[in-house]
Amino acid sequence: MSINEIIELTDTYLISTYNRFPVIFTRGKGCYLYDEENKEYLDFLCGLGVNNLGHGYPSVVYSIKEQIEKLLHVSNLYYIAQQAKLAELVVKHAFAGKMFFCNSGAEANEAAIKLARLYAKDKGITHPEIITAQKSFHGRTLATVAATGQKKVQKGFEPLFAGFNYVPFQDLSAIEKAINDSTAAVMIEPIQGEGGVHVGSPEYLMGVRDICTKRGVLLILDEVQTGLGRTGKLFCYQHTDIEPDILTMAKALGGGLPIGAILAKKQTADHFVPGTHATTFGGNPLSCSAAMAVVHALVNEGILESCQKIGLYFEEKLRELQGKYPFIQEVRGKGLMWGMELNKEGAQIVKDCLDQGLIINCTMGNVLRFLPPLIISHHEVDKGLAILDKVLSKE
Ligand SMILES: *Cc1c(COP(=O)(O)O)cnc(C)c1O
Repeated sequence: MSINEIIELTDTYLISTYNRFPVIFTRGKGCYLYDEENKEYLDFLCGLGVNNLGHGYPSVVYSIKEQIEKLLHVSNLYYIAQQAKLAELVVKHAFAGKMFFCNSGAEANEAAIKLARLYAKDKGITHPEIITAQKSFHGRTLATVAATGQKKVQKGFEPLFAGFNYVPFQDLSAIEKAINDSTAAVMIEPIQGEGGVHVGSPEYLMGVRDICTKRGVLLILDEVQTGLGRTGKLFCYQHTDIEPDILTMAKALGGGLPIGAILAKKQTADHFVPGTHATTFGGNPLSCSAAMAVVHALVNEGILESCQKIGLYFEEKLRELQGKYPFIQEVRGKGLMWGMELNKEGAQIVKDCLDQGLIINCTMGNVLRFLPPLIISHHEVDKGLAILDKVLSKE
């Protein structure tokens, strides 16, 4: 089938929720994707922060293949070995607590919000409130749309799910002021991804932790995008010495298979009891096998260290471009999560890069976003950013 036929099928039979680029990728290997004509693309987006180990990472492929042959799904009416082992592995490399598995980032945040509400109800709060940040992004379900501090995500879906209060990001006094007797939790991304790659400073994260502890309010960190090695630690909060009460993760966890999760401190986690929350698919043997291979690779195969090192190189190269092109206003990020804010629209640049064989995207209209595989080499960074340089030089 030709690409034009597939586009026509898509337009006819799929609900139009996306603006798609006219490319069909047919295979991937390491940092590269290939289209139907075998054209090669350097992947600096990783399927929106999912393929952190690149495409076809051998141990992940092996563990998926092995599990597919044995068993895919049984439901949570039964004990699932892979789920229990995965939880133990994540806890060992994060903090003492307990996990719940679901299928996506939005679902992980939904679970966190439900848990925070139960925690508040048990404290006698009848109308619990959760403080989130402006420009945050927490998902597309009704509760997470309400949690998201962006009007454009909420528009048309009013009345919004109640109980959220938005404060500017990176502003501790705004949180101090917003907390009241009804506050159940503060929920933030350590680095805002969809909102334009805004980095929460270590002082900010530590300050938020401090305020939450003093006021008896839960700290929920949404690490759906920053998690699983993206910033050079397994989780971004690990660049500081704080711990959240609830940590949410998804995107890169399953190496491309859909899985999300929360990890909660035991006293918090215990507010969920049988019957309060559930999912049919969540934590099935297949997605958990994949996730175990992903976490193993990240912590045991030097990938976090390599991400930190290459991340510094990536930053240096982006800053060189910033020095060269006056329309680049700011370069922000950590590890291998970077944003380049322009003083103009970025859509055409993204399109031109794609034509030239480099995959990036743009958030908030004018922030080019880079989420390359954590296994990327210096050579591939050079190659990708040379394409970007060429495209920028024509602006
Ligand atoms: C992508 C993302 C989500 C939503 O994840 P889905 O799997 O698309 O539901 C939530 N929070 C953050 C920070 C994200 O980047």
